[in-house]
Amino acid sequence: MDRDQYGVIGHPVAHSLSPFIHGLFARGTGQEMTYRRFDVTPEEFHARVQGFFAAGGRGLNVTLPHKIAAVDVARELTQRAADAAAVNTLAARPEGLLGDNTDGAGLVRDLCDNLGLAVTRQRLLLIGAGGATRGVLGPLLGLSPAALVIANRTAVRAYALAASFADLGPVRGAGFEELGGPPFDLIINATSASLSGEVPPIPPATVGPQTVCYDLAYGRPATAFLAWAKRCGCARAHQGLGMLVEQAAESFRVWRGVRPQTAPVLAALKERHNEAAGELSAS
Ligand code: NAP
Repeated sequence: MDRDQYGVIGHPVAHSLSPFIHGLFARGTGQEMTYRRFDVTPEEFHARVQGFFAAGGRGLNVTLPHKIAAVDVARELTQRAADAAAVNTLAARPEGLLGDNTDGAGLVRDLCDNLGLAVTRQRLLLIGAGGATRGVLGPLLGLSPAALVIANRTAVRAYALAASFADLGPVRGAGFEELGGPPFDLIINATSASLSGEVPPIPPATVGPQTVCYDLAYGRPATAFLAWAKRCGCARAHQGLGMLVEQAAESFRVWRGVRPQTAPVLAALKERHNEAAGELSAS
């Protein structure tokens, strides 16, 4: 019998760790499925997605730069995808394509379950106002932080994003130069600056000895942001491999109705990724 077909669609996508992660999930849960990479340009995106599902494909992960475009190919959106206005998971359903966004659930699970961090009643600083920030804002506000500040290089984007999520909790937008007050409890870097080894111009006073810093990006041995955070004296610094595995597990659950174990997969991924220095201890 043919195996159910899944994959990740992006451009470029050769670097994607998703086939490795979903291969381990399938083995761990005894699911018969294949998972492939599809490198597709924005011009080809709609036609290739339609073709994949018309040929019997069951589900796709959607990554840069297609997360916004994927909203339009879905017949129905989950609430979290609608809040984010971005889709990272497409699933075949009898009535048509379902669009979901599992980034926020993945981040929350990594922060709270894997890392044991508190978010409720904490002061959060979220750096960046792009697609990843849109995906994680709703689930973070759902944990009832005391305050959540979005800071972005282009401040107007942070203001606009804060305004559109204001009904979900105490969120405000800022430019970097507007950041003040006592250090934050948790700082999350959701910019793509780490991909080019850059650190956004965040005032060092935002980091105190209790501050936990988290980068959605991941690198070897650590991202520039996490190295900066450690120099500023943060309590703990973590990179986003755990989020990557957890958002994938949530996609797997949407597709297959079973939630895979993530701890062994994260351990294998860290080993593969040569993660010896992935978590910086500032203590
Ligand atoms: P995006 O939509 O392109 O947004 C990029 C953001 O980064 C914008 O806010 C942009 O600011 C800011 N930025 C870029 N370069 C900067 C610099 N040099 N200094 C300051 N700000 C800078 O990207 P995205 O989809 O949100 O992704 C952001 C990051 O999250 C990427 O590294 C991605 O790999 C990571 N991510 C990780 C996971 C995971 O599972 N671990 C999941 C999703 C995303 P402007 O608005 O001023 O341009």
